[in-house]
Amino acid sequence: MSAFRRAFLGTVGRRLHAGALAATGAATGLAAYAASPIARSEASLADDNAPAAEHPPGTWSSWMGFAPPKAALSATEWRPLKLSSVTWKTHDTVLLRFNFPKYWDVSGMECASYLLARAPCGSLRPDGTRAFVVRPYTPSHVTVGYLELVIKVYEDGKLSRYIGNLRRGSTMDFRGPIMKLPIVENQYEQVGLVAGGTGITPMLQVAKRILLNPTDTTKVSLLYGSKTEDDIILREEIDELARQHPDQFQVTYVLDTPPAGWTGGSGHMSTALLREKLPAASSPNSKVLVCGPPGMMKAVSGPMDYENKENPQGPLEGQLKEIGFVASQVCKF
Ligand SMILES: Cc1cc2nc3c(=O)[nH]c(=O)nc-3n(C[C@H](O)[C@H](O)[C@H](O)COP(=O)(O)OP(=O)(O)OC[C@H]3O[C@@H](n4cnc5c(N)ncnc54)[C@H](O)[C@@H]3O)c2cc1C
Repeated sequence: MSAFRRAFLGTVGRRLHAGALAATGAATGLAAYAASPIARSEASLADDNAPAAEHPPGTWSSWMGFAPPKAALSATEWRPLKLSSVTWKTHDTVLLRFNFPKYWDVSGMECASYLLARAPCGSLRPDGTRAFVVRPYTPSHVTVGYLELVIKVYEDGKLSRYIGNLRRGSTMDFRGPIMKLPIVENQYEQVGLVAGGTGITPMLQVAKRILLNPTDTTKVSLLYGSKTEDDIILREEIDELARQHPDQFQVTYVLDTPPAGWTGGSGHMSTALLREKLPAASSPNSKVLVCGPPGMMKAVSGPMDYENKENPQGPLEGQLKEIGFVASQVCKF
């Protein structure tokens, strides 16, 4: 037997032995495993949007001698991820799956946070290369091994048009997560979410975080504006959440151009709609989050002020201010 083979078998043997010992030790508790904090911790990895469970020192992976799952992303350096599938959902909206380097890696994202994506599709530099274009995105889904983005491709969009042309096997650089607003269990009685177009992705991240946590009783109301019914992104997932949490989650779709017989909202966001569907501005323990295209942000909450490093949120303006909200009750994404 070669030295390499001996060393290899020795390592595997030790790991299997350690695993067997652990399994024996745990044998009495195999049935209890499913209900244990360990199992819950492993299960929480199945969806990074699920409430974070503490990772105890002894999990099946460490018993078996494997390292705990690694965060595939970094907030300080750009990391390339490989595109493993491309699925067009509508004529201009595409679902992209990016794999982590190892299929057991996790994203390391917390709610509510986003990622930055970049690609060399900006202006031409003197040396013939192109400048990077950087944009924020919130994955529609993150789990062990990969993340998914739903991207709306604008005809004149610098990065989204580039992303819309990506093919399986290409890579794109990501950096993050960048924390926006930590969502703490039962911190608020009611949370109102106002989304427009692809602004739904960060709002859905927050809704899932609250609704998928059985001990979080926060009530959530979502107002989601789209051009037409076909433009409603991630509708199946939203409707399923609403079906499963009828007393906790209220959804109102608002369409610029509604079809005949439409029973949801129509036209643009309005003070009347916001007053009717969101938590009351007078309720002391409520928060409203807003994410959408520039026109909607301006009308509903006023735009972000990215130049202002002290207060990038900018002042609260628009319809939310008109109906009595104050800046501390609102977070612009
Ligand atoms: C926290 C956060 C999360 C986001 N998550 C997503 C996401 O999951 N999926 C996604 O597709 N986008 C998301 N966006 C928007 C994304 O960052 C880009 O703004 C978008 O992809 C357009 O970039 P672009 O370079 O293609 O367009 P640009 O070259 O910047 O702009 C091209 C044209 O599109 C218009 N435009 C730019 N952004 C928008 C917009 N959001 N809605 C409507 N018109 C717009 C501009 O007015 C302009 O006319 C998110 C934004 C934020 C702030």
